[in-house]
Amino acid sequence: MTKYTEAFIKEMPKSDLHLHLDGSLRIPTLIEMAKKNNIKMPSYTEEGLRELVFKSSYANLGEYLHGFQYTCAVLRDLENIERVCYELAIDNQKENVNYIEVRFAPQLMMDADAGLTMESVMKAAYKGFEAAKKEYNNHSDVVNGLRPEFNYGIISCAMRKFGPKGYSPYYTNFYKMMEFSKEMEVLKEGALQMVKAAVKIRDEKAIPIVSIDLAGQEDGYPPGKFKDVYAYAHKNFMHKTVHAGEAYGAESIFQAITECYADRIGHGYYLFNEEKITDPTITDKKKYISDLISFVADKRTTIEVCLTSNLQTNPEIKSIKEHNFKHMLANRMSLTICTDNRLVSDTNVSREFQLAVDNFDISLKHLKDIVAYGFKKSFYPGQYIEKRNWAKNVMKHFDKVAEKHGMTEL
Ligand SMILES: [Zn+2]
Repeated sequence: MTKYTEAFIKEMPKSDLHLHLDGSLRIPTLIEMAKKNNIKMPSYTEEGLRELVFKSSYANLGEYLHGFQYTCAVLRDLENIERVCYELAIDNQKENVNYIEVRFAPQLMMDADAGLTMESVMKAAYKGFEAAKKEYNNHSDVVNGLRPEFNYGIISCAMRKFGPKGYSPYYTNFYKMMEFSKEMEVLKEGALQMVKAAVKIRDEKAIPIVSIDLAGQEDGYPPGKFKDVYAYAHKNFMHKTVHAGEAYGAESIFQAITECYADRIGHGYYLFNEEKITDPTITDKKKYISDLISFVADKRTTIEVCLTSNLQTNPEIKSIKEHNFKHMLANRMSLTICTDNRLVSDTNVSREFQLAVDNFDISLKHLKDIVAYGFKKSFYPGQYIEKRNWAKNVMKHFDKVAEKHGMTEL
């Protein structure tokens, strides 16, 4: 087993392709913004919030999701969005994360009466990320080629479930407007409005919205129900990722790939669990699982793995060693290590990598592959040839850092 030091893990170039904006605020910033915007929170101290809301472990998914109401509330403010995006990029840069793809559901933040439209929300995010990117890339080490550049992309999420109350001012109005439609029709139309706006803003404002995603309650709202939304993205050269196999069976992953053209899968946890299959037409579950693993691996559909988050939201996983990550590694799937939520999961990219290498037997060659997938399978907002050169450059830097830390293959 290769021994990796903390210093090496911190210094090696990294990416985070599964990173929710509303789950990744700095606590002091959240407190400051809540005070400024008169948002009621159970505590206004870091210790208090860590004890009551943002914990290191949670009793259930409900408890895990509880904190998002506060973070989403402060994000219904353009200045706050810009600042949070800026700080998130800076926090990543500090641990040598060279590429982030930050996702959020703009409709959760939108409120037309307060000037929060999809365009103004995206512009605010863009301003924040762009400022942090420029600062980093103007640094002499980067200019002189001693460190690779920092880049980012924005992933716009559709919520697979929202209701007439308590989600956001936008969703409440949207529901009212569609009062004669069935629930699924409302949800699908909401997602369609998001994807149409995402394509338009990307094309007309040159804001790097690189992909769409489907987030929220998976059970009862499988990806196939949103295939028209994904077809629209697909036809407009937009990349696609889907939260799938997080709380629903392997068939959800199959739908994401075959009906929604997913390039990557968020979590994909239940890809390996026969007992989670509920589709009655799948009779030989063992064969289905084995065929699907091979299909996903062969297509190089990349799984965005979030170890800490899975342990926190899934009480069935008793310890990290039981995580399906071991099967993902053994099947040589295309994997990338991600945080999901830096604040809510109380983690960062270095910690997630450390958790992976400390608990699973990962050779230097395999680790390098995983790091490389984070760049090669990114939805980099440029032409392929630029992305290829950039990824190559980053991986050259990986070799340099490995050499510096005396990492050699055992
Ligand atoms: Zn997620």
